[in-house]
This record gives sequence, structure tokens and C-alpha cells, in this order.
Amino acid sequence: MDLSKHAFFEGKIVPLADAKINIATHGFLYGTTVFSGMRAYWNEEKKRLFVFRPFDHFQRLLNSARMMAMDIPYDEESLTQLTLDVLRMDNWKEDVYLRPTIYKADMGIGVRLHNLKDEFAMFVMAFEKYVPNDSNAHITFSSWRRIDDNSIPARGKISGAYANSALIKTDANRAGFDEALVLDNNGHVSEGSAMNIFIIRDGILITPPVTDNILEGITRRSVMELARSELGLQVLERSIDRTEVFIAEEVFMTGTAAQIVAVTKIDHRPVGTGKMGPITEKLRILFDDIVRAKHPKYQKWNLEVG
Ligand code: PMP
Repeated sequence: MDLSKHAFFEGKIVPLADAKINIATHGFLYGTTVFSGMRAYWNEEKKRLFVFRPFDHFQRLLNSARMMAMDIPYDEESLTQLTLDVLRMDNWKEDVYLRPTIYKADMGIGVRLHNLKDEFAMFVMAFEKYVPNDSNAHITFSSWRRIDDNSIPARGKISGAYANSALIKTDANRAGFDEALVLDNNGHVSEGSAMNIFIIRDGILITPPVTDNILEGITRRSVMELARSELGLQVLERSIDRTEVFIAEEVFMTGTAAQIVAVTKIDHRPVGTGKMGPITEKLRILFDDIVRAKHPKYQKWNLEVG
């Protein structure tokens, strides 16, 4: 894995090798860390790197921090500026993934959120495909349930909660599937291990509402806007039943790491024709152009590193 040479740690940019936390750190012991996964894309024609929707990622990160009673001396603007500083240090000329975190930084035992110091840290890594089979994925239904808003909120990107995602992902991969869908405690389809889900029924694009224990995905939000404005589709946020995915015309999953993954088989049943559908294909092409700052209308989402 090609990691950045520099990181932001304890208030300044340092060599990555020096960005170390002690094993007695609260965030490590109890998963009391929140994070984001952002990407910056290389545009070969412009020879420039562009960060995709950093303000929205930092807004969600700061919302996660609020849920976990964290307080840091940065806002969306200062975190975005700091991101540019970190990226410029290493002069990246390829697609990269950024991992900002806010963590409970005190050392010692005692499970709680209050009266603990919070720190912000970030590193960067080179990034290729997250789901190798992203144009033809075979997925399953996980036997695990999605974490609930009244236990650990899926709406927050909380490190400890990703034990749930890891169980979902590993069991799916070991059973030979590319990814899994997970039901929430009401039995509705929520999302994948680290991706949101969309289905198309009767030409309407449907995705679970933010009240069905999903992460409020930035890619989800982008795809909903593109489907409406560029493809003229009706987009519905409503609960999805398990069997609806078997009879959908198209199914795809979205995430910063995964981008848009075409799902062509679910538990050995073909989705639609069993091949990537036309709406999924159009959205994938459009999305790749947009993240690389090749689409003038959506350059509001691209921050040039310069
Ligand atoms: N759901 C979960 C559980 C995730 O971890 C992710 C990845 N961040 C997503 C959905 C997709 O969100 P986004 O598009 O913001 O990356």
C-alpha cells in the first residue's frame, strides 16, 4: 500500500512515521474515533489533482464528532485548507484516498465520552479499485443486522461501528460474494458494508431513506442529484423490502471508495438481464467524468489542489 510521506497529527504536518498514537489511547481502546473517507482524483489532461466534495465530507465528519461529544478547533473551511496543505506536501500525481479522523486522545482506561481530549489526524494513500468486480458484482444478503440508531448510529462514521461492517464484508467474501446487503432491525434493506444501495423499479430510482440506518453517503447524494438533473429520473427515498431487489430492473451500490458498483446477481438470481443496466452504465460514466473535474456544470464539487 502506497502511503503518504506526510500526515497531519497533533496540530501540524509531520512525517507519517512520526504520526503515532500510544496503545493506551482511548480512541484505540474503545473505537471512540470518527472518520471520513474522501478521494482526490488525478486529471491527466489538466495535470491537476481535484478533491471531491471536501466540504460535504468535513460537514459529515463534524456531525459524527458532535454525536460522539467531540470538540476540535477546526471547521469545514480550515479542515479543507489543511487537506490542501497535506496533499501539496507529497505532490501526488495519481488518484488518492484521504482518511481524516477525530479521536479521543487521552490515555488510560475508562469508557465514556466526556472529559477527554480530542485530536484531529489525517493521512493519504494511493488508491485503485475497491471492488475489483465493479461492473458485474455478485452480492448476497448478510446474516448480520445493521447497527441501529439507538445502539451505534449508522449515520455517524464511528470507528467502533465498523466491526459490524467488517463482519458483513468478511463473511460475504469468504462465501464467494463480492459484497453483501444488510437488513436493519425492522427487516428493511439498509446498505452494504461500506456502500449505499439503489434499485430501479418501473424506471424509478429508489434508495432507502436516511432513517433506515444508513450512512448518509456523499456519493448517494451526488447520484440522486445526477439521476434527477442529468437523466431526468424520478428518485424516491423509501424503505426497500428484501425481495424487491430480486425483481428490480437494475441494482447498484455507491461509495467514495467503491464509486458506483453494478450489481448483476444477488444470491444467485440475475438482476434484470443479468448484465449491467443502461442507467447504471450512464451514471458510472457521468460520475467518473465529474470526479475528475471534466464536467463544467459540476465543478462546484471539485477542489483543485494546485
Ligand atoms: N455506507 C457505509 C457504511 C460506508 O462506510 C460508506 C463509505 N463511506 C458509504 C455508505 C458510502 O458513503 P460515501 O458515498 O460518503 O463514501
